[in-house]
Amino acid sequence: MSVRPLLTEDELSPSTGEGFDVERVRRDFPILRRTVNDKPLVYLDNAATTQKPQTVIDAVTRFYSYENSNIHRGVHYLSEHATAAYEEVREKARAFLGASESREIVFVRGTTDAINLVAAGYLRPRLREGDEILVSHLEHHSNIVPWQLVSGEKGAKIRVIPMSQSGELILDDLDMLLNERTRLVAIGHVSNALGTVNPVREIVARAHARDIPVLIDGAQAVPHMPIDVQELGCDFYCLSGHKMFGPTGVGLLYGRAELLEAMAPYQGGGDMIRKVSFEGTSYAPIPSKFEAGTPNVAGVVGLGAAIDYLGTMDWDVVMAYESDVLSYAIEAIGAVDGVRLIGTAEDKTAVVSFLLEGIHAHDVGTIVDQDGIAIRTGHHCAQPVMDFYGVAATARASFALYNTKDEVDVLAAALEGARKVFQ
Ligand code: PLP
Repeated sequence: MSVRPLLTEDELSPSTGEGFDVERVRRDFPILRRTVNDKPLVYLDNAATTQKPQTVIDAVTRFYSYENSNIHRGVHYLSEHATAAYEEVREKARAFLGASESREIVFVRGTTDAINLVAAGYLRPRLREGDEILVSHLEHHSNIVPWQLVSGEKGAKIRVIPMSQSGELILDDLDMLLNERTRLVAIGHVSNALGTVNPVREIVARAHARDIPVLIDGAQAVPHMPIDVQELGCDFYCLSGHKMFGPTGVGLLYGRAELLEAMAPYQGGGDMIRKVSFEGTSYAPIPSKFEAGTPNVAGVVGLGAAIDYLGTMDWDVVMAYESDVLSYAIEAIGAVDGVRLIGTAEDKTAVVSFLLEGIHAHDVGTIVDQDGIAIRTGHHCAQPVMDFYGVAATARASFALYNTKDEVDVLAAALEGARKVFQ
């Protein structure tokens, strides 16, 4: 197997002349120092969830140790401070996503919750029989099933932007798919199964030319690139904290204020009302209208720490580094005898999906686990993508900014070993 670096150290950071200091970054993540099966952990399951830097762990621990209180309700010191901390993260999230107002940021449980909120709050009241919702063939189930739930109720239809063998969207028929019946386009920014980066700007522009709103599922994009929702022009953007070095159980929905204001509440309960009586209820303004009940306050605080952490990164340098590791991985994994790469898009980030001839993907995962390597095997909650390639499952190595070429080498060697066992 021959592998070679695709960028020189100088090319990595042309603006500063300094390379990305991955060893320093790795020191921020305590779990990366542990062993699994007596081997150093090689964590390549970042598309499922990322690891957490110490600053995020500390922020959550500090909150529960010294600051815990419910928010928006108390006049006492702790409640006021917890409320301020929670609302500060909303402002941080606004800046992080380039939104114009912090009331356009709704705290949710994650991407799945954000999409369901839009399906129930935005689409359900507007959808009529015969209407259409346009998704793509590359979507995660979270960006398919919520639309099916509401369209099933209303007699509406899901239409699908097709994909090519390389795992890229085919936009040739987009202007036909976008028609007077289309009520919403819901599109992933980055495919979790293949790593394809979709041309979301173009899709937004073409949908908006027909006044059709666009939701972007950004779950797999935010840990790998800067996001500016105004530049993208989208109407909704969804993300999960745990996929961007933050805690589980917390995420964000960005929505244009005008649309959020026109939306029905998703769930009823405390904190989302202006006035309740048995005769009727009026609702709080956005974003509170969509945050019924006690939220995940500690999670939001942890998400704030994750946003701060990403804020320390020079994205040009990080993206060049990640792209170099990905190119190296594509070459190294692709060079293993019997490997078939699944998804070879031009514009791709952080994911290598593959099959190893003669070995079921699950067995590949189990074998490399013996060497302390965590990869994901299965359908990756993207069964239409698996169906397209005629496979039930793939093995998937997915990368974050703390992964290294040495780790790629460990995986490639383990795959070579697996091949020998099964020959
Ligand atoms: N969308 C994409 C592209 C994903 O990769 C995932 C999770 O893997 C989701 C949505 C759902 O995210 P969550 O489970 O955090 O709600």
